[in-house]
Amino acid sequence: MTIGRTISGQSLSPAEESFNISLRPKSLNECIGQQNVREKLAIAIEAAQHRSEPLEHILFYGPPGLGKTTLAHVVANEMGATIRCSSGPALAKAGDVMGLLSNVNTGDVLFIDEVHRLSTPVEEFIYPAMEDFKVDYTVDSGLHAKTINFPLRRFTLVGATTRAGLLSAPLRSRFGMLYHLEFYSTEELTEILNRSAQLLSLQCQDGTLELIAACSRGTPRVANRLLKRVRDYAQVKGSGVLEAGVVENALKMEQIDRLGLDELDRAFLRALVNVYDGGPAGIEAIAATLGEERDTLEDVVEPYLLQIGFLRRTKRGREVTQQACRHLGMKLRRKRSADSQPNLFERDVP
Ligand code: ADP
Repeated sequence: MTIGRTISGQSLSPAEESFNISLRPKSLNECIGQQNVREKLAIAIEAAQHRSEPLEHILFYGPPGLGKTTLAHVVANEMGATIRCSSGPALAKAGDVMGLLSNVNTGDVLFIDEVHRLSTPVEEFIYPAMEDFKVDYTVDSGLHAKTINFPLRRFTLVGATTRAGLLSAPLRSRFGMLYHLEFYSTEELTEILNRSAQLLSLQCQDGTLELIAACSRGTPRVANRLLKRVRDYAQVKGSGVLEAGVVENALKMEQIDRLGLDELDRAFLRALVNVYDGGPAGIEAIAATLGEERDTLEDVVEPYLLQIGFLRRTKRGREVTQQACRHLGMKLRRKRSADSQPNLFERDVP
């Protein structure tokens, strides 16, 4: 059975998407956290503006919901540029990219989400566009095939990926700036929630936003989504004001524990303990046990479990830690020994 995730799945419904957009900061000053990245961006933007040049190509990488798309829009805004958005899977053929590039004006920002999912031919088609602002486009086929050299206006490509490791080296090397987004601290998330609560005209009692922030897995998107759930709960079961009791009940209903783990996180850890005696276990095997996609586990579940020290990634596979067992109130059935049998599904950790 697939365990649905309510708080950090990657595909967003149109309603969620518009909710996200309404809360998205528009300028670097409005953004909270990611101090280091913001400082470097501010300098690069100021320098480019000084020289009246478009920015260099930028790659943002890190787990979902940390602000990669937000920063792409912020960069475009700060540069006073138009942003055009697409994604790796949507750009299946050179013709799709050609459609985008031929409409690009000088200084425009071209945002490609999930840039690691570009096909090799599309990647190769993009290289000269990124480097020399031109593309070689082949029209017709067979005897009539003609390659047209098509000059482009200078644009800035902003790529976003949850998996920088899957990006080919030639593509990665064509980005002038590569920024890793980190998980946010509880204080930063509280500040983000404060801003969101103001935008939504929500009344909150002291300490309630901290409570939500602490359960948000270091991720602004999760924080905003939980705020929305708590707002609904407060409207229906309470007076509409966010009070500690209301927040606790709403989080309980969402099956979020005090560390922000949801049912999918716990199922992942429980499978490791119960089925694989704590590991090591290959990610494919765990995904099969849970009936989940490997990508979902790698992108959405594992980064936070690794961050809080509940999971170890070794060459032999994933291992649960004692800390995670204590949190779940579970015991490992046997002690792992150095000569234990290797797991049949074991894969190299990428
Ligand atoms: P990603 O592209 O990395 O998946 P998004 O840019 O879509 O993440 O961010 C998700 C939501 O989190 C945004 O809609 C925005 O409201 C919020 N958010 C992200 N980063 C910040 C930030 N630095 N400050 C305030 N809110 C943020």
